[in-house]
Amino acid sequence: GPDGLPCIHLDLTHLGADRINSRLPLIREVCIKFIGLDPIDKPIPIRPVAHYSMGGVETDIDGATRIPGIWAAGEAAAVSLHGANRLGSNSTGECLVWGAITGAAIANALATLPAPAPVPEAVLRRCEGHIREVMAREGSENLYGLRRELRTMMDRDVGVFRRGDELCRGLSVVREIRERSHREPVHAKGALYNSNLFNALELENLLDLAEVTIVGALAREESRGAHARRDFDSRNDEQWLKHTLAWYTGGAPRLDHKPVTLDAWKPVERKY
Ligand SMILES: Cc1cc2nc3c(=O)[nH]c(=O)nc-3n(C[C@H](O)[C@H](O)[C@H](O)COP(=O)(O)OP(=O)(O)OC[C@H]3O[C@@H](n4cnc5c(N)ncnc54)[C@H](O)[C@@H]3O)c2cc1C
Repeated sequence: GPDGLPCIHLDLTHLGADRINSRLPLIREVCIKFIGLDPIDKPIPIRPVAHYSMGGVETDIDGATRIPGIWAAGEAAAVSLHGANRLGSNSTGECLVWGAITGAAIANALATLPAPAPVPEAVLRRCEGHIREVMAREGSENLYGLRRELRTMMDRDVGVFRRGDELCRGLSVVREIRERSHREPVHAKGALYNSNLFNALELENLLDLAEVTIVGALAREESRGAHARRDFDSRNDEQWLKHTLAWYTGGAPRLDHKPVTLDAWKPVERKY
């Protein structure tokens, strides 16, 4: 923002108290409650934030994933509904519609679904071994510092406007944080509700998702929806009218693609 501030100011003061109270009461309430600032008197500091994750677990139109007995709905799912940019309010709509569709599909399947097979002993041992390894970590890295570094980098290098060199820099930061995370001790040692431990495990998931996001964004050398490459600024339907799927099968994520289901609404060039 101007003057090196991490925000710009949105000035509503010219609207006056009556208009703000009648038309924007919730915005006023949030400002007062969260930052103790009354927009009737002062400009509101604003900045972009990530408030939705596009993409998710691949499902069919009824919310079923490729793994029998596992469904996904809502923000976690990629039903192929939103195109390349989830538009305002469509997330709540998706939750309501696909919550019902997926819930009904699960209810229908329950009658014939076999009971879940017991988790294989070898898988349990592997998970236990991993948790023991995380709990035994030693070193001078700070778990919460690493999470903050990851967030800051994703904000800086993997925002709406991206460039190949910035994405490459982001990818090397992800790999460096992953490497350093092996030297972050989990200080709390309790076996029950250990928030240090689940924050450490969650960091692994955040790193996986950050890596998938960056590798997918680097490969997609075009601009589409909320993916705006400053070094490839036009849309390329011939090569890229398709979903990116990512698989972790050891090492870096492997990318694959899936056709987009196009029905009544064909994508057109953005004119604004
Ligand atoms: C600031 C902000 C503003 C937004 N504004 C809008 C808007 O105006 N219009 C709109 O349509 N959308 C908006 N969205 C997006 C929308 O709110 C979300 O996409 C939607 O609420 C997602 O709902 P969900 O049920 O799929 O997921 P969530 O609401 O994220 O629910 C997932 C739940 O799973 C729980 N959970 C996570 N891990 C585990 C676990 N291991 N075990 C058990 N439980 C677990 C979580 O605690 C959470 O309760 C906004 C989002 C934000 C952050």
